[in-house]
Amino acid sequence: MTSTIEPRLYRAAPGELAGRLIAITGAGSGIGRAVALACATHGAEVVLLGRTVAKLERVYDEIVAAGGAEPVIAPLDLEKATAKEFDAIAAGIGTRYGRLDGLLHNAGLLGDLSPIEHYDVPLWTRVMHVNVTAAFALTQVMLPLLRAAPDASVLFTSSGVGRRGRAYWGAYAVSKFAIEGLVQVLADELSGTTSVRVNAINPGGTRTAMRRAAYPAEMPEAVPPPEAITAAYLCLLGPGGRGTTGATVDAQAPAAARGTVS
Ligand code: NDP
Repeated sequence: MTSTIEPRLYRAAPGELAGRLIAITGAGSGIGRAVALACATHGAEVVLLGRTVAKLERVYDEIVAAGGAEPVIAPLDLEKATAKEFDAIAAGIGTRYGRLDGLLHNAGLLGDLSPIEHYDVPLWTRVMHVNVTAAFALTQVMLPLLRAAPDASVLFTSSGVGRRGRAYWGAYAVSKFAIEGLVQVLADELSGTTSVRVNAINPGGTRTAMRRAAYPAEMPEAVPPPEAITAAYLCLLGPGGRGTTGATVDAQAPAAARGTVS
């Protein structure tokens, strides 16, 4: 079900996310950092999940310096975490808050850009694990907390190559197709019986370390910085996204309209 809102043009009101607890993976850099800051600026309490604690601490400091609520730092390496560690994160949030209002699966691994014929099998497994299996596993342990919230939102990160395959994007593209499928399955399972909504967001080409790795010859200014694309995230993670589930949403105008590739 999709509402008539246009998330990328959404303007969240000041304090719109107040009272919401939002967990974000890969919150230490790139898009995850920008969305964490934007959520906190709009009143949310954020749980910063990531594998590099020093980066999470920097984001923590930035949020506090901007006047946001003190975040929670939750170290989690999605590639190496055991089931016990996933459980411990959920248990920690459950004990302290008893609910979770938003879960943004943002962390991602690019892997190699190479033909399927030559794609390294162990690397393929790592990319699929971080981008798909770990996001599924984290969602699974968080579901009781999401159900306990009055209006919870789960947001998975897709990509243009997760909607239309492109040569040499290998495991990354396939993992994003899987994410689109996971969103459809989970949204269908939860609609009607819970208030938990589940959607996918495609950030579009954005100035981050991953973008630089994928397009080393591109001028950084050719794509917007992460801070410029947070509107759709705020919409879908907050009350603006009510009534939208099972959708796949763009954070930016289509790449063709901007003259870039995403
Ligand atoms: P970045 O490389 O800047 O950020 C990726 C984040 O994922 C980092 O915080 C990184 O942590 C984290 N991460 C990677 N591996 C793990 C792991 N094993 N455990 C925990 N965290 C991990 O990329 P972006 O900000 O660009 O990417 C964010 C999302 O947006 C990704 O899902 C990506 O696929 C998607 N996307 C990005 C586009 C773009 O143009 N930038 C376009 C389309 C989709 P650390 O910093 O510690 O390495």
